[in-house]
Amino acid sequence: MVIGILALQGNVREHMTNLNRHDVQGRPVRLPADLAGIEGLILPGGESTAMRNLVSSSGLEKPVGDLIRQGLPVWGTCAGVVLLARGGIWSSVDITVERNAYGSQVFSRLVHGSSALSETPTPMVFIRSPRITSAGREVEVLAEVGGDVVAVRQGNILLTTFHPELVDHSPFTACFIEMVSSARSDETPVPGHCPKETGRAV
Ligand code: GLN
Repeated sequence: MVIGILALQGNVREHMTNLNRHDVQGRPVRLPADLAGIEGLILPGGESTAMRNLVSSSGLEKPVGDLIRQGLPVWGTCAGVVLLARGGIWSSVDITVERNAYGSQVFSRLVHGSSALSETPTPMVFIRSPRITSAGREVEVLAEVGGDVVAVRQGNILLTTFHPELVDHSPFTACFIEMVSSARSDETPVPGHCPKETGRAV
């Protein structure tokens, strides 16, 4: 399994290390040719305005948009959420977001929140995260913190406003790898398909 990581800016190395922890190979995607043969794509956190500009100038906007429409599993973390939300460069998930809604970098925080993917609290690192301000009916909510939706899935797209790649183990990483495996075997994604983890200490 080869999962591409948009490698124009942001947490590319961290996602690479995270995939390797799960024995999955990551491939940096900088140009359209790098998309050949990938079975999933990660849009990392970073700075969404910079990423949007670099996506346009690298020629990736159209080919990535085509792959998303064809059902390639995609995982957007933090700034990646902004790129996939309504009004974002790929506008593929029926959510609206408010950027930097929790304040500046100094208000970064680690929360152990509950999620639909685990029976035990999940570590979630928030760094200048966007707030999801509305979600359409197609959108499956996977986690909420303090009354805010922080993780969703719509079809083959997973979005987390926090950074699962920065912790040793997150059920969201496992969920995305599972989504890629299912797409590979041509299984239709089923809401809530990712298995719930039991009893893992945080
Ligand atoms: N604030 C950033 C943006 O909206 C996202 C921050 C992050 O990805 N950690 O682009």
